[in-house]
Amino acid sequence: MSVRWLPALLWLSAGLLLLTALVDFSPAWREALVAATVGCILLALYFTRRLYARFTALREQLAEQRAEIESLQLELTRQQRRRLALIDGMPIPLLICDEDAMLRYANRLALEWFGFRHMTGKSLLALTFCYDLYLLMLKAVRRESAVSGEITFSFPKERHTEAHIWYLGEADSHKLFAIALLDKSELLRLEQVRRDFVANVSHEFRTPLASIRSLAETIHDDPDMPHSTRQRFLNLIIQEADRLTRIADDLLTLTRAESMQPVREVFELAPVIQQAVQEMEGEAQRAQVSLTVELTPGIRLLANRDQILQVALNLLSNAIRYNKPQGSVTVRTYTEGHTAVLEVADTGIGIPSEALPRIFERFYRVDKTRSRETGGTGLGLSIVKHIVEAHGGQVEVESEYRVGSVFRVRLPLYEEPAPSHKQAS
Ligand code: ADP
Repeated sequence: MSVRWLPALLWLSAGLLLLTALVDFSPAWREALVAATVGCILLALYFTRRLYARFTALREQLAEQRAEIESLQLELTRQQRRRLALIDGMPIPLLICDEDAMLRYANRLALEWFGFRHMTGKSLLALTFCYDLYLLMLKAVRRESAVSGEITFSFPKERHTEAHIWYLGEADSHKLFAIALLDKSELLRLEQVRRDFVANVSHEFRTPLASIRSLAETIHDDPDMPHSTRQRFLNLIIQEADRLTRIADDLLTLTRAESMQPVREVFELAPVIQQAVQEMEGEAQRAQVSLTVELTPGIRLLANRDQILQVALNLLSNAIRYNKPQGSVTVRTYTEGHTAVLEVADTGIGIPSEALPRIFERFYRVDKTRSRETGGTGLGLSIVKHIVEAHGGQVEVESEYRVGSVFRVRLPLYEEPAPSHKQAS
């Protein structure tokens, strides 16, 4: 019998003995019964105390265990929150699906990608509209292992990704799988840009090289060629070689502008523009184009002086080369709020509106022949745009076909830092 019942049994026995003692027995019996009752009571008291002490110890132990469980639960909740925050903040979209391709979880980026606020309970197909991803998911379910593949999404916008799916284990008698999507669209776009650039560069080099070769061959194959024709051909070879040098120089300038942070200094804009105008005066005279200069003194920039000079030279050169005889070019500098503006306006051939969005692209020319004849490389405006944007500025163009163009470069003004007022102690 369990020791828990002993005090109760003893108390019961003491009661029964006391009742029996009340019956009309001889005094000797009564004394014996009272003594037995007292004995039982003492024993009952002793065992009751022991039992009470055991219960108290047990209760304390239970309270301790409960506190421990509560703190473990708290830690578990904290850990789960931390894990969710980690997954939620990950810079790649992450989904968790069960074996029926139903969504159990989606991190913040995954929600953003597919334009949903909540997505649990939806099927993977209904969320992504991507059958290829669904098939990849079924493959992972079948194999119960990691699978990956190239997946292209067309909803809500086109994205080229590498999808990785792996088995997480079981929860609530469901098999869970994680899906991570690595966006490769930007990488593929850059790869395409690089391929196009290399193709364009080779094309640009091939034309003058082919001319040089055929001119040289003609001279070589005809030793009796008249002296004047030979001289003309040799001049053409020199021109084509110069063109190659110009392309190489512009490519180098563009690459430098792209890859290096410009070394900046504080300088006044007016003298730099004046220098560019002086350098272009000869070209303007040859093209019978007049140059007008309206410079505001005191405009200061924190910029790379050489690069700003390059911007002015390129814009001036274009304004002269794409002008008409007796045309004019006006160069202005002024300020607008905290911005310095360099404006180059011409009365030239203008740019057709459909070509305007493309003129800052590398090697883009509206009229290839005119560009080539005037010594253009198709890189001048790309260099301008690149330099200006690297300085935190913008370049814009307004143009009317056959009437003229205005190029405006906006750059942040250099403003003297306010002197710090030290309090006299
Ligand atoms: P390019 O070396 O051919 O001049 P740019 O990059 O400087 O190359 O200019 C790209 C094209 O934009 C030019 O080929 C020309 O067609 C057009 N363009 C640039 N500036 C002017 C301008 N001021 N007036 C008319 N067309 C211009």
